[in-house]
Amino acid sequence: LSRRINYQGPRDELWALADTFDSMIGRLEASFERQRQFVQDASHELRTPLAAIRTNIEVTEMDPDASLEEYRELVATIKSQTERLTRLSEDLLLLTNDDGARVEREAVDLPALAADVIAELQPLAAQRGVALRRDIREPAEALASPDLLHRCVLNLVDNAIKYSGEGSTVTVRVADAGKAARVEVEDNGPGIPAEALPHIFDRFYRVDKGRSRREGGTGLGLAIVKELIEAMGGSVGVRSEPGSGSTFWIELPKSQESADSPAPAPRGG
Ligand code: ADP
Repeated sequence: LSRRINYQGPRDELWALADTFDSMIGRLEASFERQRQFVQDASHELRTPLAAIRTNIEVTEMDPDASLEEYRELVATIKSQTERLTRLSEDLLLLTNDDGARVEREAVDLPALAADVIAELQPLAAQRGVALRRDIREPAEALASPDLLHRCVLNLVDNAIKYSGEGSTVTVRVADAGKAARVEVEDNGPGIPAEALPHIFDRFYRVDKGRSRREGGTGLGLAIVKELIEAMGGSVGVRSEPGSGSTFWIELPKSQESADSPAPAPRGG
């Protein structure tokens, strides 16, 4: 050390520097490990639909008497697995796009956003026998990217419809949370087991893998929501009571206009 770096300062400072360096290396190692795990999980997820396509082609190919109907089934399988691969690659791309710092934010009217998401998912909700409602406690405005926030709320409502089941009600609530503007997506479905809650926002984590697959899920939806919201300076969370449903929430900084004006009286909707 003495030959390479001409260090003249006190020894304590050197130890402090060594400690900082050590913890930086530790964080880097942990980050490499997460990255490695992500690549491994991603390849596994990509291989599954590819294997399904391949097996189906081989089975049909080997049957010299395969009927037109069997070929049609093969095409249908290839189509659905290709759609799955497309969703997966879009989600993977979103997660690896590291331009969080460059997210353009503007004032987003949350009640209007809630109405848009509800209108968009109404057909799915009707198909599943789920009621969608909007509950505007205070008409808050958030500072966010309108497109990214739309995508996040859409994702939460889509999950709530898919996982809560027939006869349930999904509520999109907008509220003022002091310094933050808050959106909640509440369902009264089966809820999430307590042991699963700490992992629910992890990449590729699913409570019921088979169910998620049947729903066309990639296991990346909530991880994307968390990363996008955090990139916009916000936070996400969930509380869930097995048997009585789940509430996912997003909190974002308020836009200047809504931060300046006192919260008006609540209105329904
Ligand atoms: P995906 O839906 O593609 O599997 P997500 O990251 O969106 O992935 O969700 C992860 C898992 O969290 C889901 O597979 C499901 O098990 C669980 N989950 C998400 N939302 C709900 C909900 N509203 N109610 C119950 N379980 C949920």
